[in-house]
Amino acid sequence: NADLALYRAKEHGRDRYHFYTEELNAHALKQLLMEQELRHALQFEEFTLGFQPQVNLTTGKIVSVEALIRWHHPSKGLVMPDSFISVAEETGLINPIGRWVLKNACMQMKMLQDLTGSAIKIAVNLSARQFDDPKLEQSIEEALNETGLEPEWLELEVTESMLMGDIQAVTNKLKRLRQTGVSLAIDDFGSGYSSLSYLKKLPVNALKVDREFVRDIPEDSNDMEITSAIIAVAHKLQLKVVAEGVETAEQKEYLLANQCDFAQGYFFSKPLSFEDLYIYLNEHKFKQTA
Ligand code: C2E
Ligand code: MG
Ligand code: MG
Ligand code: MG
Repeated sequence: NADLALYRAKEHGRDRYHFYTEELNAHALKQLLMEQELRHALQFEEFTLGFQPQVNLTTGKIVSVEALIRWHHPSKGLVMPDSFISVAEETGLINPIGRWVLKNACMQMKMLQDLTGSAIKIAVNLSARQFDDPKLEQSIEEALNETGLEPEWLELEVTESMLMGDIQAVTNKLKRLRQTGVSLAIDDFGSGYSSLSYLKKLPVNALKVDREFVRDIPEDSNDMEITSAIIAVAHKLQLKVVAEGVETAEQKEYLLANQCDFAQGYFFSKPLSFEDLYIYLNEHKFKQTA
Protein backbone atom coordinates (compact mmCIF):
# COMPACT_ATOMS: atom_id res chain seq x y z
CA ASN A 1 0.00 0.00 0.00
CA ALA A 2 1.55 3.21 -1.28
CA ASP A 3 0.45 5.49 1.57
CA LEU A 4 1.84 3.20 4.17
CA ALA A 5 5.19 2.97 2.39
CA LEU A 6 5.44 6.75 2.20
CA TYR A 7 4.63 7.06 5.88
CA ARG A 8 7.33 4.59 6.81
CA ALA A 9 9.88 6.37 4.68
CA LYS A 10 9.05 9.62 6.46
CA GLU A 11 9.11 8.03 9.85
CA HIS A 12 12.55 6.59 9.25
CA GLY A 13 13.64 9.44 7.02
CA ARG A 14 16.37 10.70 9.24
CA ASP A 15 17.82 7.31 10.00
CA ARG A 16 17.77 6.35 6.40
CA TYR A 17 19.50 9.49 5.34
CA HIS A 18 22.12 8.92 7.98
CA PHE A 19 22.59 5.36 6.84
CA TYR A 20 22.87 6.47 3.23
CA THR A 21 25.71 8.94 3.86
CA GLU A 22 27.57 6.32 5.84
CA GLU A 23 27.25 3.98 2.90
CA LEU A 24 28.49 6.65 0.55
CA ASN A 25 31.51 7.26 2.74
CA ALA A 26 32.19 3.56 2.92
CA HIS A 27 32.03 3.46 -0.87
CA ALA A 28 34.41 6.41 -1.22
CA LEU A 29 36.81 4.82 1.25
CA LYS A 30 36.72 1.53 -0.61
CA GLN A 31 37.51 3.35 -3.85
CA LEU A 32 40.39 5.17 -2.25
CA LEU A 33 41.78 1.96 -0.83
CA MET A 34 41.47 0.21 -4.16
CA GLU A 35 43.17 3.10 -5.91
CA GLN A 36 46.19 2.66 -3.65
CA GLU A 37 46.13 -1.09 -4.18
CA LEU A 38 45.98 -0.62 -7.94
CA ARG A 39 49.03 1.65 -7.85
CA HIS A 40 50.81 -1.02 -5.86
CA ALA A 41 49.65 -3.67 -8.34
CA LEU A 42 51.13 -1.72 -11.25
CA GLN A 43 54.41 -1.20 -9.50
CA PHE A 44 54.78 -4.80 -8.34
CA GLU A 45 53.37 -6.46 -11.48
CA GLU A 46 50.36 -8.13 -9.90
CA PHE A 47 48.50 -8.20 -13.23
CA THR A 48 48.49 -11.01 -15.75
CA LEU A 49 46.64 -11.60 -18.98
CA GLY A 50 44.26 -14.42 -19.79
CA PHE A 51 43.91 -15.34 -23.46
CA GLN A 52 40.62 -16.52 -24.93
CA PRO A 53 40.69 -18.13 -28.38
CA GLN A 54 38.40 -16.93 -31.14
CA VAL A 55 37.69 -19.47 -33.86
CA ASN A 56 36.65 -19.31 -37.48
CA LEU A 57 33.27 -21.10 -37.46
CA THR A 58 33.68 -22.52 -40.96
CA THR A 59 37.21 -23.89 -40.67
CA GLY A 60 37.41 -24.38 -36.90
CA LYS A 61 40.78 -22.64 -36.89
CA ILE A 62 41.89 -20.22 -34.19
CA VAL A 63 42.18 -16.81 -35.77
CA SER A 64 42.66 -14.64 -32.74
CA VAL A 65 42.88 -14.48 -28.96
CA GLU A 66 41.41 -11.80 -26.71
CA ALA A 67 43.63 -10.51 -23.90
CA LEU A 68 41.70 -10.26 -20.61
CA ILE A 69 43.32 -8.71 -17.57
CA ARG A 70 43.48 -10.48 -14.20
CA TRP A 71 44.71 -9.13 -10.89
CA HIS A 72 46.48 -11.41 -8.44
CA HIS A 73 45.84 -9.49 -5.26
CA PRO A 74 48.27 -10.31 -2.41
CA SER A 75 45.47 -11.10 0.07
CA LYS A 76 42.21 -11.26 -1.93
CA GLY A 77 43.58 -13.67 -4.52
CA LEU A 78 42.30 -13.53 -8.08
CA VAL A 79 40.32 -10.35 -8.84
CA MET A 80 38.35 -10.11 -12.10
CA PRO A 81 38.26 -6.98 -14.30
CA ASP A 82 34.59 -6.18 -13.70
CA SER A 83 35.44 -5.40 -10.09
CA PHE A 84 38.38 -3.04 -10.69
CA ILE A 85 38.29 -1.60 -14.25
CA SER A 86 35.65 0.99 -13.27
CA VAL A 87 37.76 2.22 -10.34
CA ALA A 88 40.81 2.34 -12.60
CA GLU A 89 38.72 4.31 -15.06
CA GLU A 90 37.44 6.80 -12.46
CA THR A 91 40.88 7.42 -10.99
CA GLY A 92 42.69 7.67 -14.32
CA LEU A 93 44.85 4.65 -13.47
CA ILE A 94 43.35 2.95 -16.51
CA ASN A 95 45.86 4.83 -18.66
CA PRO A 96 49.02 3.26 -17.18
CA ILE A 97 47.18 -0.07 -16.72
CA GLY A 98 46.03 0.08 -20.34
CA ARG A 99 49.58 0.74 -21.53
CA TRP A 100 50.73 -2.25 -19.50
CA VAL A 101 48.04 -4.41 -21.15
CA LEU A 102 48.91 -3.20 -24.66
CA LYS A 103 52.61 -3.78 -24.20
CA ASN A 104 52.22 -7.21 -22.58
CA ALA A 105 49.59 -8.39 -25.03
CA CYS A 106 51.85 -7.47 -27.96
CA MET A 107 54.92 -8.98 -26.31
CA GLN A 108 53.25 -12.29 -25.54
CA MET A 109 51.68 -12.54 -28.99
CA LYS A 110 55.04 -11.88 -30.61
CA MET A 111 56.57 -14.60 -28.44
CA LEU A 112 53.78 -17.01 -29.36
CA GLN A 113 54.19 -16.30 -33.06
CA ASP A 114 57.93 -16.90 -32.82
CA LEU A 115 57.40 -20.13 -30.85
CA THR A 116 54.63 -21.66 -32.94
CA GLY A 117 54.88 -19.94 -36.30
CA SER A 118 51.13 -19.46 -36.13
CA ALA A 119 49.51 -16.38 -37.60
CA ILE A 120 46.97 -15.27 -35.06
CA LYS A 121 45.81 -11.89 -33.85
CA ILE A 122 45.64 -10.47 -30.37
CA ALA A 123 42.59 -8.40 -29.37
CA VAL A 124 42.93 -5.78 -26.63
CA ASN A 125 40.03 -4.05 -24.85
CA LEU A 126 40.13 -0.28 -24.57
CA SER A 127 38.26 1.69 -21.94
CA ALA A 128 36.55 5.03 -22.59
CA ARG A 129 39.24 7.07 -20.92
CA GLN A 130 41.97 5.38 -22.95
CA PHE A 131 40.01 5.97 -26.12
CA ASP A 132 39.76 9.67 -25.28
CA ASP A 133 43.45 9.94 -24.43
CA PRO A 134 45.20 11.98 -27.16
CA LYS A 135 48.32 9.86 -26.56
CA LEU A 136 46.58 6.57 -27.42
CA GLU A 137 48.07 6.30 -30.93
CA GLN A 138 51.50 6.93 -29.46
CA SER A 139 51.01 4.17 -26.84
CA ILE A 140 49.99 1.75 -29.56
CA GLU A 141 52.98 2.57 -31.72
CA GLU A 142 55.29 2.26 -28.73
CA ALA A 143 53.87 -1.15 -27.81
CA LEU A 144 54.30 -2.38 -31.39
CA ASN A 145 57.80 -0.95 -31.82
CA GLU A 146 59.09 -2.17 -28.48
CA THR A 147 57.82 -5.71 -29.00
CA GLY A 148 58.29 -6.09 -32.74
CA LEU A 149 54.70 -7.22 -33.30
CA GLU A 150 53.39 -6.21 -36.73
CA PRO A 151 50.30 -3.98 -36.49
CA GLU A 152 48.19 -6.32 -38.61
CA TRP A 153 48.17 -8.74 -35.66
CA LEU A 154 46.71 -6.26 -33.20
CA GLU A 155 42.98 -5.61 -32.90
CA LEU A 156 41.47 -3.03 -30.56
CA GLU A 157 38.02 -3.50 -29.05
CA VAL A 158 35.92 -0.43 -28.33
CA THR A 159 32.31 -0.24 -27.16
CA GLU A 160 29.35 1.57 -28.69
CA SER A 161 29.15 4.09 -25.86
CA MET A 162 32.69 5.30 -26.63
CA LEU A 163 31.62 6.04 -30.18
CA MET A 164 28.69 8.28 -29.26
CA GLY A 165 28.94 12.03 -29.55
CA ASP A 166 30.53 14.08 -32.31
CA ILE A 167 30.54 11.70 -35.29
CA GLN A 168 33.25 13.64 -37.10
CA ALA A 169 35.59 13.60 -34.11
CA VAL A 170 34.93 9.90 -33.48
CA THR A 171 35.48 8.99 -37.14
CA ASN A 172 38.73 10.94 -37.22
CA LYS A 173 39.94 9.22 -34.10
CA LEU A 174 39.12 5.78 -35.52
CA LYS A 175 40.87 6.68 -38.77
CA ARG A 176 44.01 7.72 -36.90
CA LEU A 177 43.94 4.40 -35.07
CA ARG A 178 43.50 2.50 -38.33
CA GLN A 179 46.46 4.41 -39.78
CA THR A 180 48.73 2.71 -37.25
CA GLY A 181 47.82 -0.50 -39.10
CA VAL A 182 45.71 -2.13 -36.39
CA SER A 183 42.12 -3.33 -36.83
CA LEU A 184 39.09 -2.30 -34.81
CA ALA A 185 36.11 -4.19 -33.44
CA ILE A 186 33.00 -2.97 -31.65
CA ASP A 187 32.63 -5.02 -28.47
CA ASP A 188 29.33 -5.95 -26.77
CA PHE A 189 27.41 -4.89 -29.87
CA GLY A 190 23.67 -4.52 -29.32
CA SER A 191 23.97 -3.57 -25.66
CA GLY A 192 24.32 0.14 -26.48
CA TYR A 193 22.52 2.62 -28.66
CA SER A 194 24.37 2.93 -31.92
CA SER A 195 22.07 3.35 -34.89
CA LEU A 196 22.73 1.49 -38.09
CA SER A 197 23.18 4.66 -40.14
CA TYR A 198 25.82 5.72 -37.64
CA LEU A 199 27.54 2.37 -37.84
CA LYS A 200 27.81 2.68 -41.60
CA LYS A 201 30.08 5.70 -41.23
CA LEU A 202 32.54 4.19 -38.79
CA PRO A 203 35.83 2.76 -40.09
CA VAL A 204 35.68 -0.47 -38.06
CA ASN A 205 36.40 -4.04 -39.18
CA ALA A 206 34.20 -6.20 -36.98
CA LEU A 207 31.28 -6.41 -34.58
CA LYS A 208 31.18 -8.63 -31.53
CA VAL A 209 27.59 -9.64 -30.83
CA ASP A 210 26.91 -9.17 -27.13
CA ARG A 211 26.80 -12.35 -25.03
CA GLU A 212 23.33 -11.33 -23.90
CA PHE A 213 21.86 -12.27 -27.32
CA VAL A 214 23.75 -15.55 -27.60
CA ARG A 215 23.00 -16.83 -24.10
CA ASP A 216 19.41 -17.97 -24.64
CA ILE A 217 19.81 -19.47 -28.11
CA PRO A 218 17.97 -21.70 -28.98
CA GLU A 219 15.27 -21.11 -26.32
CA ASP A 220 14.61 -17.44 -27.04
CA SER A 221 13.40 -16.91 -30.60
CA ASN A 222 13.66 -13.10 -30.26
CA ASP A 223 17.33 -13.36 -29.43
CA MET A 224 17.81 -15.69 -32.38
CA GLU A 225 16.14 -13.20 -34.72
CA ILE A 226 18.19 -10.31 -33.36
CA THR A 227 21.42 -12.24 -33.70
CA SER A 228 20.78 -13.27 -37.29
CA ALA A 229 19.67 -9.72 -38.15
CA ILE A 230 22.87 -8.23 -36.68
CA ILE A 231 24.92 -10.71 -38.72
CA ALA A 232 23.05 -9.85 -41.93
CA VAL A 233 23.35 -6.08 -41.45
CA ALA A 234 27.03 -6.31 -40.49
CA HIS A 235 27.75 -8.27 -43.65
CA LYS A 236 25.93 -5.67 -45.76
CA LEU A 237 28.30 -3.12 -44.24
CA GLN A 238 31.31 -5.35 -45.02
CA LEU A 239 31.98 -6.06 -41.37
CA LYS A 240 33.04 -9.38 -39.89
CA VAL A 241 30.94 -10.77 -37.05
CA VAL A 242 32.16 -12.43 -33.87
CA ALA A 243 29.69 -14.06 -31.49
CA GLU A 244 30.62 -13.78 -27.81
CA GLY A 245 29.78 -16.16 -25.00
CA VAL A 246 29.16 -19.28 -27.08
CA GLU A 247 28.71 -22.06 -24.56
CA THR A 248 26.89 -24.87 -26.38
CA ALA A 249 27.04 -26.87 -29.60
CA GLU A 250 23.47 -25.70 -30.46
CA GLN A 251 24.57 -22.07 -30.27
CA LYS A 252 27.57 -22.78 -32.44
CA GLU A 253 25.41 -24.57 -35.02
CA TYR A 254 22.86 -21.76 -35.11
CA LEU A 255 25.58 -19.14 -35.62
CA LEU A 256 27.28 -21.18 -38.32
CA ALA A 257 23.95 -21.69 -40.12
CA ASN A 258 23.41 -17.92 -40.01
CA GLN A 259 26.81 -17.12 -41.53
CA CYS A 260 28.46 -15.76 -38.40
CA ASP A 261 32.20 -15.56 -39.14
CA PHE A 262 33.86 -16.15 -35.78
CA ALA A 263 32.98 -17.24 -32.27
CA GLN A 264 34.40 -17.08 -28.80
CA GLY A 265 33.18 -18.67 -25.60
CA TYR A 266 33.46 -21.48 -23.08
CA PHE A 267 32.31 -24.00 -25.71
CA PHE A 268 35.70 -23.52 -27.38
CA SER A 269 37.80 -22.44 -24.43
CA LYS A 270 37.88 -20.33 -21.28
CA PRO A 271 40.53 -17.62 -21.09
CA LEU A 272 43.87 -19.41 -20.75
CA SER A 273 47.28 -18.64 -19.27
CA PHE A 274 50.09 -18.18 -21.78
CA GLU A 275 51.34 -21.73 -21.13
CA ASP A 276 47.89 -23.26 -21.54
CA LEU A 277 47.30 -21.27 -24.70
CA TYR A 278 50.54 -22.64 -26.10
CA ILE A 279 49.36 -26.19 -25.32
CA TYR A 280 45.88 -25.50 -26.72
CA LEU A 281 47.33 -24.20 -29.96
CA ASN A 282 49.56 -27.23 -30.36
CA GLU A 283 46.71 -29.67 -29.71
CA HIS A 284 44.53 -27.76 -32.11
CA LYS A 285 47.15 -27.79 -34.82
CA PHE A 286 47.36 -31.58 -34.61
CA LYS A 287 43.60 -31.89 -34.75
CA GLN A 288 43.41 -29.62 -37.78
CA THR A 289 46.02 -31.48 -39.79
CA ALA A 290 44.87 -34.98 -38.75
P1 C2E B 1 34.55 -8.38 -22.73
O1 C2E B 1 35.61 -7.64 -23.44
O2 C2E B 1 33.21 -8.41 -23.35
O3 C2E B 1 35.15 -9.84 -22.52
C1 C2E B 1 34.39 -11.01 -22.51
C2 C2E B 1 34.11 -11.48 -21.11
O4 C2E B 1 33.23 -12.59 -21.18
C3 C2E B 1 35.34 -11.97 -20.36
O5 C2E B 1 35.14 -11.72 -18.96
C4 C2E B 1 35.29 -13.48 -20.64
O6 C2E B 1 35.98 -14.26 -19.70
C5 C2E B 1 33.81 -13.73 -20.57
N1 C2E B 1 33.41 -14.90 -21.33
C6 C2E B 1 33.99 -15.42 -22.43
N2 C2E B 1 33.33 -16.49 -22.89
C7 C2E B 1 32.27 -16.67 -22.07
C8 C2E B 1 31.19 -17.62 -22.04
O7 C2E B 1 31.07 -18.52 -22.86
N3 C2E B 1 30.26 -17.46 -21.05
C9 C2E B 1 30.37 -16.46 -20.12
N4 C2E B 1 29.43 -16.40 -19.18
N5 C2E B 1 31.37 -15.55 -20.12
C10 C2E B 1 32.31 -15.65 -21.09
P2 C2E B 1 36.24 -11.05 -18.05
O8 C2E B 1 37.60 -11.55 -18.40
O9 C2E B 1 35.79 -11.13 -16.64
O10 C2E B 1 36.21 -9.52 -18.52
C11 C2E B 1 35.07 -8.73 -18.31
C12 C2E B 1 35.18 -7.40 -19.00
O11 C2E B 1 36.22 -6.61 -18.44
C13 C2E B 1 35.52 -7.49 -20.48
O12 C2E B 1 34.37 -7.79 -21.24
C14 C2E B 1 36.06 -6.11 -20.74
O13 C2E B 1 35.01 -5.19 -20.94
C15 C2E B 1 36.76 -5.78 -19.44
N6 C2E B 1 38.21 -6.03 -19.58
C16 C2E B 1 38.89 -7.19 -19.51
N7 C2E B 1 40.22 -6.99 -19.71
C17 C2E B 1 40.36 -5.66 -19.94
C18 C2E B 1 41.50 -4.81 -20.23
O14 C2E B 1 42.65 -5.26 -20.36
N8 C2E B 1 41.26 -3.48 -20.38
C19 C2E B 1 39.98 -2.96 -20.28
N9 C2E B 1 39.84 -1.64 -20.46
N10 C2E B 1 38.91 -3.72 -20.03
C20 C2E B 1 39.10 -5.05 -19.85
MG1 MG C 1 36.26 -7.57 -25.30
MG1 MG D 1 32.32 -8.32 -25.02
MG1 MG E 1 31.90 -6.42 -21.60
